[in-house]
Amino acid sequence: MIIKKRYDLVVVGAGPAGSSAAKRAAEAGFDVLLIEKRQEIGDPVRCAEGAGKRGIKRHIKPDPRWIAAEVRGSRVFAPDGTRLEISEEGSGVEVGYVLERKIFDRVLAEEAADAGADVMVKTLATGLIREDGRVAGILGRSLGRAVEVRAGLVVGADGVESMVGRWAGIETTLAPGDIETCAQFLLKGVEVDDYCEFYLSNRLAPGGYVWVFPKGDGMANVGIGVLGSRSESGMPIELLTRFVNKNFPSARVVEVVVGGVPVCGPIKRTIADGLMLVGDAARQSDPVTGGGILNALDAGVIAGDVAAESLEKGDVSREALKEYEERWREKIGASLARSLVVKERLVQLSDKDLNTLAHSIKDKDIARMGLFDLLSLLFKTNPRLLWSLRKLF
Ligand SMILES: Cc1cc2nc3c(=O)[nH]c(=O)nc-3n(C[C@H](O)[C@H](O)[C@H](O)COP(=O)(O)OP(=O)(O)OC[C@H]3O[C@@H](n4cnc5c(N)ncnc54)[C@H](O)[C@@H]3O)c2cc1C
Repeated sequence: MIIKKRYDLVVVGAGPAGSSAAKRAAEAGFDVLLIEKRQEIGDPVRCAEGAGKRGIKRHIKPDPRWIAAEVRGSRVFAPDGTRLEISEEGSGVEVGYVLERKIFDRVLAEEAADAGADVMVKTLATGLIREDGRVAGILGRSLGRAVEVRAGLVVGADGVESMVGRWAGIETTLAPGDIETCAQFLLKGVEVDDYCEFYLSNRLAPGGYVWVFPKGDGMANVGIGVLGSRSESGMPIELLTRFVNKNFPSARVVEVVVGGVPVCGPIKRTIADGLMLVGDAARQSDPVTGGGILNALDAGVIAGDVAAESLEKGDVSREALKEYEERWREKIGASLARSLVVKERLVQLSDKDLNTLAHSIKDKDIARMGLFDLLSLLFKTNPRLLWSLRKLF
């Protein structure tokens, strides 16, 4: 396939955000190019692959090809082992399906292609073309050759390590405390049931948590997130190895993942003249859980719609693209803002505090509660400990 010299829209990065934006704009009849630097979309996986069923079904018909397991809910363990069990509906954005993202991401990109988008793998954006003060295309390398592609509009969906925003003059810098540094093993030979498990403890995972997500067939994603400001080189792998050796001594590691998740809440400005940022590139992942798949899909659809409308009107100015900012903030902005307040308190809690919180609700009927109701109950039972959350209720 040959990349054309000009498209209506160029989308950089074929993760959930990029593919959903590309699909939407292509469905509206625009000429779209979706580029991915890796040679295989979705591989290597940098994700625990958990996503709520309702959120996924909003975007795509469930398909056994990319559903590794379905779970019934989550268990949260306090540092002293106190266990809280929450139903699937109450568990939030990461619990419901455990996906096979190598296939899921590929299928999303195929859907964009079916809608008419050109999809190019092994194609790396290396810079932006600017004309008349606006972003007007990308510079890059495709299958080893230099390319220059002009575009009416560019979407930066290039994930946590995003450069597109920075090239466009948008402040995207992440401080160490803005990111969870993660490591994950795909384990074979584990005995787990159909619950996602979360282990909270500053000893196990400073400022983060350990997760065990079942993938069926004796397999599970077992991973750790450590707050960047409390992490040292090699620490996530070291702590994860310790946890796995203790809890799954006979398991085999068949895949290792390392990566980062933004937990700082979205950047202030996600648009520039001729450009929108979406998904992890815009830091739209949940600050408490680090879950970003569903928000990336939601914001991707909005970016694709706004791209189509702006191209139709012939106005891709920053002013016109404010429509994107407004719509994605209306959809996910409030929950991201709430999560950020909660995360900022959570990372300050000692293991003793976490135990106190768990004890205060362990005999209450919390199984069917949503995250907000659970927080509200925790606040009511521990007002002094959680005073900084009062503005949420
Ligand atoms: C260890 C770990 C566990 C996680 N677990 C979960 C979970 O269980 N549930 C959940 O919801 N979220 C989870 N997340 C977060 C989730 O993976 C992301 O939020 C989600 O993938 C964001 O989607 P995206 O499309 O914005 O970015 P990505 O999925 O990161 O896609 C960005 C794409 O852009 C490509 N790219 C980057 N730069 C360029 C370039 N210059 N040119 C071309 N292509 C480029 C990349 O190769 C990549 O394919 C986890 C993250 C990590 C690291």
